Amino acid sequence: MSEESPLDRALARLEASLDGHLADLADLVRIGGISAEPPPNPVLHDSARAVVALMARAGLQNARVLELEGAHPYAYAEWLNAPGAPTLLLYGHHDVQPVGREAKWVTPPFEPSVRDGRMYGRGAVDDKAGVMMHVAACAAWLDATGALPVNVKFVVEGEEEIGSGNLERFLQTHAELLAADCIVLTDTANLDAGIPSLTASLRGLAAVTVEVRALRQPVHSGMWGGPLPDPVIALSRALGELMDADGQVIEPLRRGVAELTPEEREALERLPFDEADFCAQAGLVPGAQLIGRRDVPVYARLWREPAVAVIAFESRAIEGSSNQIIDSARARVSVRVVPNQDARAVQDALVAHFETRVPFGLEVTIERDEVANAWLTSAVGPAFDAARRAMTAGYGRDCEIIGCGGTIPFVGPFAKVLGGVPALLTGVEDPLCHAHSENESLLIDDWKKGTRAAVHLYAELGQALTPR
Ligand SMILES: [Zn+2]
Repeated sequence: MSEESPLDRALARLEASLDGHLADLADLVRIGGISAEPPPNPVLHDSARAVVALMARAGLQNARVLELEGAHPYAYAEWLNAPGAPTLLLYGHHDVQPVGREAKWVTPPFEPSVRDGRMYGRGAVDDKAGVMMHVAACAAWLDATGALPVNVKFVVEGEEEIGSGNLERFLQTHAELLAADCIVLTDTANLDAGIPSLTASLRGLAAVTVEVRALRQPVHSGMWGGPLPDPVIALSRALGELMDADGQVIEPLRRGVAELTPEEREALERLPFDEADFCAQAGLVPGAQLIGRRDVPVYARLWREPAVAVIAFESRAIEGSSNQIIDSARARVSVRVVPNQDARAVQDALVAHFETRVPFGLEVTIERDEVANAWLTSAVGPAFDAARRAMTAGYGRDCEIIGCGGTIPFVGPFAKVLGGVPALLTGVEDPLCHAHSENESLLIDDWKKGTRAAVHLYAELGQALTPR
């Protein structure tokens, strides 16, 4: 009689339990937990406690809520009974984005519903799906074999969506507790549905809020219009000058950008890409053009070129408006910065831009918002090789190494606090998941594949890494 391997038994156990874990995921979505609502936030306590309960039920030990003064609660659990095996620090987050425009949701954000193979709900993919992948994979190993092939420390943060402002302090406070040989962060995207992907670069962020004031109060545009400057137009001009006519970010915001090496360029050109699909997935209106540097691939424009966006703009609402020159206008501007740029210097350049480019001598007030540097790692070494094998096995398709245009500010500091250990960035977002937007959803089939990959990953890393 042939004996099944522990890995086979864990995989079989996983298959039998996937639907139950999906039901648990739906329960987590039902709780909510918007971190933009400041502490004390009872919903985030409920959600942290719910994650702790799931971790404990999976067989993880010392499951508990960890509190840090002024921060939303963290959920933590561990399993450290594999002497001689490496230790993984698993990371996910249980907080969610605000719901956005409630009326745009086809079904309510906190009432999960499954349609066409996707689970809809706020947090369904970002990042409760990521959390549940590891809960399910750990449970499969522990239920089927009574053990994991690695030691595991599992941290689920409660304020990723507001910039993880306390995470470095949390890591320092718990440095010993969290010491590990490898970080597995499950909060990123796949290149496309069904394509397993490891993320090896992240863009950073430099943001400001600028207010342009022309008047102490709004005035009648007939009585006063002509000689008096309009702050909306003045601010709009300065905003328009953040890019050239091709939509390429102006030089001061590009300082330090590392040109792609020929190898990097070739790797980007090898990735599957279809411009029409890309535009359709983004929801770009017919006839609209892609912008930015024409001489680099679109993936380079997403991952290795800075991008600027006006993420908020305030003047007068159209409803209730009348013939007035408005007194002031405000905009929040964010630049995604890339490897080799200094995010602080890019923010300085934004400040200088608005100080000098707003016309007519209007009053300009600038607040500095987030800054975070980009992150880049070379996807080589035993941890990456192990992860590639695991992803390929879980998805039944070759794993791709990709970048991410978004920002996870703590990845660099995280790896550094842990002594420069490798960081594996995986996740189950896909181009249609609408993370952060209305009708966020999880592609359930990819979640199952990613969870199988996690079961493989523990086995692969257990073999590939030597504990320090
Ligand atoms: Zn996330």
